[in-house]
Amino acid sequence: MLTSKLLKDAAREWGVDLIGIGSVDRWDSAPVENDPRTIMPNAKSVICIGFRIHRGSHRGIEEGTYFSSYTMTGFADLNNIIAPNAQRRVASFVEDYGFEAATVMYHANRFGGGKYNTGRAALNADGTEKPRPDILFNFRIGAALCGVGQIGLNRLLLTPEFGPSQRVYFVITDAPLEPDPIVESPICDGCLECVRKCPAKALSAKEPDDVDVTGVVNIRRCSLDTGKCSIGHYGGISPFAPEEVLAYSKNIVDGSATTCADGSPRPTDDEIVSYLRENVQYTKSAYDFTYGPAVVCAACIRSCLAHLDKTGRLEKKRV
Ligand code: SF4
Ligand code: SF4
Repeated sequence: MLTSKLLKDAAREWGVDLIGIGSVDRWDSAPVENDPRTIMPNAKSVICIGFRIHRGSHRGIEEGTYFSSYTMTGFADLNNIIAPNAQRRVASFVEDYGFEAATVMYHANRFGGGKYNTGRAALNADGTEKPRPDILFNFRIGAALCGVGQIGLNRLLLTPEFGPSQRVYFVITDAPLEPDPIVESPICDGCLECVRKCPAKALSAKEPDDVDVTGVVNIRRCSLDTGKCSIGHYGGISPFAPEEVLAYSKNIVDGSATTCADGSPRPTDDEIVSYLRENVQYTKSAYDFTYGPAVVCAACIRSCLAHLDKTGRLEKKRV
């Protein structure tokens, strides 16, 4: 008989650092396009597996001397190699017991030219439209619903084991597995180091963006200016940015959501990303052999990790 313990013991053998299981009713209040049952209508459980991002892969960025390790081993390799291998083994294990297992990848729903929900809608039996493909559920909230961790004010998944430093992936199944409890003890203490250290001024505690998952968990989050975050994310204020790119980025970072610091209208998020992809060699190169996002910033991860370590809020010291 397939049990949660059997699956978890096997997954640990395959190199999975974190594993948690949520019963699918925890998504009852989710919008239909974020509900795992929109993918598998008879789903009963969602399995979340996670892999640590090594503490050392942030080190060179903190020193300002070496950025590739996080880009490759903490991001691309996890998404492209490590996670798909383990995720496949989890899915095979579940299907060998006679259940069905649908893998939900980091790359899911990105095949439509980098935009979400671009396909033609399928129809329900009554003729109404289903959500347009590809749909996806929120990974960070999904991990919280699987009992793997909590969402911090920095909007990241925080786990007792690794703080903000991991990536997660999912398998949806009709197997009725025993769910894990929601992590109740607070990990984020509201220190706001993440807000202070964000070099793009993208996080705002003054404008909260909370999520209430009815009957399951209340999530408190800062709001995120996605355009400003793209400046950090795509290298616009990194050591790899030429002077004119730094000036372009500063004009946006010091401006508002609609206006640059010099009074000109702010470029759209797409325009910001295209400009940086074209003009920051590091970002361009990363795209050439993997993909570029999150290559050179992640101060919201690093500052939080340092704070949680310093204040002893993780199960194990990670510095
Ligand atoms: S990735 Fe960088 S720019 Fe975006 S919120 Fe985190 S620290 Fe700020
Ligand atoms: S840096 Fe502080 S406020 Fe921000 S998520 Fe971490 S613990 Fe919470």
